[in-house]
Amino acid sequence: MTTVPSSILNSLDTLPRYSLKQKVLKATQPLLYWSGLAPLFARMRSAPSTTILMYHSVPTSDLARWIDPCNSMPPDAFERQMAFLARHRNVISINALVSSLRQGVLLPRGTVAITFDDGYLDNLTVAAPILAKYELPATLYLTTGAIDRAQPQWIDALYTAFSYRSCSALSLEDYGLQTWQLTDSSALRQAYFAIVHKLLKAGAEDRQHLMEVVLNQLAPTQKPPRLLMTWEEVRQLRQQFPNFELGAHTANHIDLGTHSHLAVQEIETSLDRIEAETGYRPRHFAYPYNRYNAAAQSAVKRLNLKSAVATCAEPVVRQQPDFYALPRVEASRSMTLLRLRTSGAFPDLSKRLLGRVWTSAH
Ligand SMILES: [Zn+2]
Repeated sequence: MTTVPSSILNSLDTLPRYSLKQKVLKATQPLLYWSGLAPLFARMRSAPSTTILMYHSVPTSDLARWIDPCNSMPPDAFERQMAFLARHRNVISINALVSSLRQGVLLPRGTVAITFDDGYLDNLTVAAPILAKYELPATLYLTTGAIDRAQPQWIDALYTAFSYRSCSALSLEDYGLQTWQLTDSSALRQAYFAIVHKLLKAGAEDRQHLMEVVLNQLAPTQKPPRLLMTWEEVRQLRQQFPNFELGAHTANHIDLGTHSHLAVQEIETSLDRIEAETGYRPRHFAYPYNRYNAAAQSAVKRLNLKSAVATCAEPVVRQQPDFYALPRVEASRSMTLLRLRTSGAFPDLSKRLLGRVWTSAH
């Protein structure tokens, strides 16, 4: 197997994903927790809030190098988080959360829902046994087209192509991008980010085409192994781990904020495929990349789904939320951030203490 120079992987692992202000926030927030202010503030607050956590892959160490680090949580960190949540938080399923909120039930402080996106095989082999050990429910939002085609997610195919490239010249001027010589980490990061941005907003066919061009030019020496579940494994997940609820996540994982005219078709196809393969028709939905607009929201409603999760400025679920844009947060690898974000004090305490820094970073 080809050895990857560690500098390449490190360059991609440390991609600058946050602005300076967001970095300040990340650095200061653990202090809020450890100062004891967060638990105190949470007890003083009258209006409870719920946190929906988003995970993707929980890969074993041999598979981690094929997966964009943004979407990956090491199994030992995941287990520590689940042990904490089981002991100190009120973990409920998305279905229980939505039903309770619709009935006006006041949920206890520190209520949390655990969700996974896309359908990584390690959700069955690694995450599900850990969740079962702590008797925690979770929801998995499936992208059905990737399972049907047995393809990796494009982000992982791109990450692998960059990591294992055998050519360093990348010329994408015909696609509204530029030409790069991937000889230093700065060019590598710039090219990777620009392509990710382009692919994220592309329709399924344009995305497929641009991916082929990138793969041809970079000529990677390795391909990722199968990272997503087969339908047989999805059925196995349902049978062995009934606490794992299935949700829908479109057929082709396209940005419904940009391509909302395809929303009904994309969502309906994913619902139909999941029902045909498992006998279960999902009741909940996750927007790909957490992006949506009003037309995408009406498509979700028209298809009789009970909720949809998204990224919102306000990262906690309050009483009487918009059920078709329930906010959720990406689970951080940091235990301290997990404790703070699920404490019931987040983000109100952060806002109050950090004031303008908080407002301008979000
Ligand atoms: Zn996704």
